[in-house]
Amino acid sequence: MSIEVLRRSIFQNNDRAAQENRSLLDERGITAVNIMGGAGCGKTTLLEHLIPQLRSDFAVAVLEGDLATTKDAARIAALDVPVIQLLTEGGCHLTATLVQEALARLPLAEIDLLLIENVGNPICPANFDLGEHLRVAVLSVTEGDDKPAKYPFLFKVADQVVITKVDLIALTDFDRERALRAIHALDKEKGVLTVSKKDASSISQLADWLRSHVSTS
Ligand code: MG
Ligand code: ZN
Repeated sequence: MSIEVLRRSIFQNNDRAAQENRSLLDERGITAVNIMGGAGCGKTTLLEHLIPQLRSDFAVAVLEGDLATTKDAARIAALDVPVIQLLTEGGCHLTATLVQEALARLPLAEIDLLLIENVGNPICPANFDLGEHLRVAVLSVTEGDDKPAKYPFLFKVADQVVITKVDLIALTDFDRERALRAIHALDKEKGVLTVSKKDASSISQLADWLRSHVSTS
């Protein structure tokens, strides 16, 4: 008896939508950044401190990925930038099709930089292309320095790694050198920034990095 096999990559439809998103964003001159990291690593807090530093240079909009609630979108809306809450209703990552629906609702002509906060999860978001131009992996010192070794794909696909909550490092066992060694074992050229919400100059390093990638034409 022969066995029938049906095969469809879960990435197939996603990749098509991601390509469409990227073309649309390119057409409109928008740079999109996919911000990924585990739950509670400080992605939303990072955005709260980053956006005020960027908004004088660029028109910023945000997509907030979560399983449930509009709590994070409310925090971004308080900064008075356009934001759409993307709820996956149990899904553990954002998909390009969900982002596509959001793009149809945003005032694209008025946006230079689109910051996409993915669902808090260090695993599968790294596998799903959203059509973004840049990927940022966020790791907090409270999560532990073993995470780059345990979740290598996230740190591998990232264009920039940001280590957050460094003001809390004395309360943890986090060893910055060990984390850097693990990250650089994946890619010895990987840029790593260490930030604290209490130190605006640390956040400006990330703002500068983004600035160097956003087209202003
Ligand atoms: Mg968040
Ligand atoms: Zn997932």
